[in-house]
Amino acid sequence: MKEYKLGTKCVQAGYTPGNGEPRQIPIIQSTTFKYDTSADMGRLFDLEAEGYFYTRLQNPTNDMVAAKIAEMEGGTAAMLTSSGQAANFFALFNICQAGDHIVSSASIYGGTFNLISVTMAKMGITATFISPDCSTEELNAAFQENTKAVFGETIANPALTVLDIEKFAHAAHEHGVPLIVDNTFPTPVNCRPIEWGADIVTHSTTKYMDGHGSAVGGAIVDSGNFDWMAHKDKYPGLTTPDESYHGIVYAEKFGKEKAFITKCTSQLMRDLGCIQSPQNAFYLNLGLESLHVRMPKHVENGQAVAEFLNGHPKVKKVSYPGLPTDPYYERSKKYMPGGGCGVVSFELEDRKAAEDFMGRLKLAAIETHVADARTCCLNPATSTHRQMSDEQLQAAGIPAGLVRISCGLEDKEDLINDLKQALEG
Ligand SMILES: *Cc1c(COP(=O)(O)O)cnc(C)c1O
Repeated sequence: MKEYKLGTKCVQAGYTPGNGEPRQIPIIQSTTFKYDTSADMGRLFDLEAEGYFYTRLQNPTNDMVAAKIAEMEGGTAAMLTSSGQAANFFALFNICQAGDHIVSSASIYGGTFNLISVTMAKMGITATFISPDCSTEELNAAFQENTKAVFGETIANPALTVLDIEKFAHAAHEHGVPLIVDNTFPTPVNCRPIEWGADIVTHSTTKYMDGHGSAVGGAIVDSGNFDWMAHKDKYPGLTTPDESYHGIVYAEKFGKEKAFITKCTSQLMRDLGCIQSPQNAFYLNLGLESLHVRMPKHVENGQAVAEFLNGHPKVKKVSYPGLPTDPYYERSKKYMPGGGCGVVSFELEDRKAAEDFMGRLKLAAIETHVADARTCCLNPATSTHRQMSDEQLQAAGIPAGLVRISCGLEDKEDLINDLKQALEG
C-alpha cells in the first residue's frame, strides 16, 4: 500500500482479502495454532519460518492491525501491546538493561514519567530528564557513556508542549543512540515522527486511534533506519547471539528493518506477555478506519474551544499549540501543519472555580480519559494529582485551577455554549 495516501492506508492497509475471504479483518480468537509435524513447529521456535504458535507472543489479527499502523507511520515493522504503558516499557527495555541510562524529555505523560523514574530505576536503568525546550548544549550534556535511548512525546500529555523532533533526533544520532517518540496525541494523521528522524514510534492506541473509549492498547513501530550493527557494543541484545533462540543474532538475521520488533516479540512478549487481545485489535482497527476523518474534526473543535476560552474574562490562561499566542505555535506549525489534537488546557481562578465549572458542564463529562469521540474534562488538582498541595501543584506547573478538556466530535457551537453556561452560570 506504500503508493497510496494516508487516508487510504487508514482504511485498507494491513489486510488484503483473497478471493472469497472475509472483507473485514477476521478476529482469530484462538490461543494456539495447529501443525502437522513437530518439525514444522520446530522451525517456528527456531525463528526459521514465519507463523503462529501461541497468542501470548503473536496473533494474526494483531499483526494485520500492526501492519496498518506501520504503513501509516512509514515504518518497516510494528507490534501491538496490551496498553500504551506496555508499548513504552517494551520500546525502552528492548534496548536497555541494568546499568544503562535514558535521556528523556521531562514533559511527558505522568504514567511514563513514573515508569522511567521509579519502576525502571528499580531495574537499574537510570534517566536524566531535560526540558523539551533545552538548548543544544544542555541536551548534549545529558548524555552519558551508558546512554542507550532518547525519549519524548510529540505533543505531551497533559502539558501540551511540542517536541523539537529534528533537534532531539540529531542529538541522539550524534551520540549513536535511537530517538523514541510517543506519537499518541497527533497520531500519524497529523505528524509522522519518522519523517523528522525518529527511529522508534510508540502509541497509546487507547486514545485517538481507538477514539471511542472502547479498548486499552498500545503499539510500537520501527522506522528500520537505526543501524544496530554500527553500534554493536551498545546493543548486545540485538548484535550478539541470543542463547534463548539457539544463538540467533537479531540484527544480522532480520536486518535493520525487522530486528527490533522481532526481538521485542520473541523475547519480551514471550517472557512478559503484554499482548493486546485480538478482539481489542479488531476494535482498534475500526477506529483506524476513520482516523483521518476524525482527527481534523478534533482539531477544528480544539481550535474553536481554545479561541473561545482565550477571549473569556474568567479564563486566566489557555494552552493550545494552535493558538498564535502559544509558545509552541511555530514548532507545531512546522511538525503539524494540519493541527495537532483536540486537547486544550486552561486555568480558572482556583480549585473551587474549576470544581464549580466542571459541575455545571452538561456535554463534557468528568473523566481521566482523553482523545475520545465524546468531550471529556479533568481538573488534575482534584483527581490525578489530588495528593499535592496548591503550592506543590503550582511548582509542578499544574495550578489548582487548571482544567484539561479533550474536545470530542460534537458540534463545536454546542461545546462552546456548554462551556459558556458553565463559566458564567
Ligand atoms: C495515555 C497515554 C499513555 C499510556 O497509555 P495507556 O494505553 O493508558 O497505557 C502513554 N503516553 C501518552 C502520551 C498517553 O496519553
